[in-house]
Amino acid sequence: MKGHVVGWLCRCPPPLTMPFIAATMKRAMAGSAETNILVVEDNEKLLALLRRALEHEGYRVTPAPSGAEMMKQLRLATPDLIVLDVGLPDMDGRDLLASLKKDPQTLSIPVIVWSGREPGSDRRIVLDLGAEDYVEKGPPSVLVPKIERILLRISERELLKARESLPKA
Ligand code: CA
Repeated sequence: MKGHVVGWLCRCPPPLTMPFIAATMKRAMAGSAETNILVVEDNEKLLALLRRALEHEGYRVTPAPSGAEMMKQLRLATPDLIVLDVGLPDMDGRDLLASLKKDPQTLSIPVIVWSGREPGSDRRIVLDLGAEDYVEKGPPSVLVPKIERILLRISERELLKARESLPKA
């Protein structure tokens, strides 16, 4: 099957349009254990649920049940995305988000705030602090597609940047 697809591509190469490249990247990323998602959540059940859903999509999940654990994990490796709970046992997720966005080492890591609180003003606060999105706690089937969209948007941005840096013909 693979050989057939490759053969077809060789005979008739598709135009390298952005949607094509983006779709290619999406396919590559969604199934890739290279994409590491740091999930900061102290509720064991929720963490297990989200972890299972993300791993099912092919992502690698690093769990962090506290703010201190999140900081420790960030010193070990840079994740591709962080899912951040607001109500953590040791810190407020909004303060953690603010410190992530102040630090040049971590400011470009996309953060989705996953909160069990009433959205209200929290949503505005975390978006102003630099979160990519604010998602109310619920089934992972809501959060997972948002994660995929954000990762896709970022790879599109990177592709555009790469294209702009190419020497003009
Ligand atoms: Ca919590």
